[in-house]
Amino acid sequence: MNEEILNIYENFQNESLSIFFDDLISFINKYHLEFSKYISGEYLESMEKFEAKNFILGHSDDNFEVAIPYYKDLIEQGLDKENICRQVSSLVWDLSGYLLDKICPNCHDSNLRLTSSIDKKQIITFCDECLYTGIDGKFVEIDEEILPANKNQVNSYLKQQYM
Ligand SMILES: [Zn+2]
Repeated sequence: MNEEILNIYENFQNESLSIFFDDLISFINKYHLEFSKYISGEYLESMEKFEAKNFILGHSDDNFEVAIPYYKDLIEQGLDKENICRQVSSLVWDLSGYLLDKICPNCHDSNLRLTSSIDKKQIITFCDECLYTGIDGKFVEIDEEILPANKNQVNSYLKQQYM
């Protein structure tokens, strides 16, 4: 598991996030049993079906050229399986995250991210900093897991905003 994820990180190129993203998803599928110990079932099941072509990648404020070497270091220092699973899962979240040009109305500390309900019926704005969740600009408490919004959801959201 360690060698394999290191290989994937080794091949990381900021210019080809799609290949990297799909490699991470294959990795998650291959180690499904390990991931299922730490990542909630519904979320994991959805994540295992992610494909780079369905997302707008690299539209968060994360700097992967800095993050990946750091993640690699952690693994080389002997990161355990649980934390490898968490690292890969949060990397998928960061890569697929679509950050809006809109500051969080609650903490004013971070921009809102566009996310979706598991059934993809609801578009939810989410703050990574304070975990604020909103629908149509209003605070709404969400009990279930949320997914990164896919390409279609981002496009239809942006279209609505500028109509
Ligand atoms: Zn916030």
